Amino acid sequence: MEKKQFQAESKRLLEMMINSIYSQKEIFLRELISNASDAIDKMYYKALTDESITFDQSQYYIKVTPNKENRTLTITDTGIGMTKEELETNLGIIAKSGSLAFKTENESKDGHDIIGQFGVGFYSAFMVADVVTVITKAFDSDQAYKWESEGADGYTIEPCEKETRGTEIILKIKENIEEETYDEYLEEYRLRAIIKKYSDFIRYPIKMDVSET
Ligand code: ADP
Ligand code: MG
Repeated sequence: MEKKQFQAESKRLLEMMINSIYSQKEIFLRELISNASDAIDKMYYKALTDESITFDQSQYYIKVTPNKENRTLTITDTGIGMTKEELETNLGIIAKSGSLAFKTENESKDGHDIIGQFGVGFYSAFMVADVVTVITKAFDSDQAYKWESEGADGYTIEPCEKETRGTEIILKIKENIEEETYDEYLEEYRLRAIIKKYSDFIRYPIKMDVSET
């Protein structure tokens, strides 16, 4: 399968995230939950303008699933999903890179709070994961796609199976390296605390699915 390259600026941000010494790595969850919520909002607005779509509140939620055995953390939403083209443009290219320009400019002066102040978005997943997989099926589409990346050397996109509309982000959580540990991102109590701290205002239910291991 062909490996596609990230646009130069995306690659730069990605490298920053991968090598991040930033202490508040936990904010990756805020970013992914905020994206999930945005995706559900998009369905909601579609329903407002399209009579053929009903927005049944109970069908819309975000799910966080840690799995210690596989060392994965999965964030699932029932939002609008992405087409193949959207995967390509939304996750491969940073269009609105105003905050990135600001970030890189100021990084050397104060590497600490920049990440906290500005949403770094999807790529923040690479602070805690060494492989990120996105499985998504767009509204109005019969075909699902899988986007996968192990970091700065590129990403792949291929068709895959997915029954329902929406997006699943699977993080392969990094192995611990000496004092740099990542196990906490697989702990239910820790994840609950992070969600409470940053995502309390999210207006869709955030469920936690815990694997029986
Ligand atoms: P931002 O949220 O500021 O636009 P992100 O880096 O967080 O930037 O996300 C990039 C884009 O990827 C989003 O704008 C959206 O189009 C797409 N995206 C990310 N996560 C999801 C998701 N769960 N469902 C649908 N689209 C998503
Ligand atoms: Mg975002």
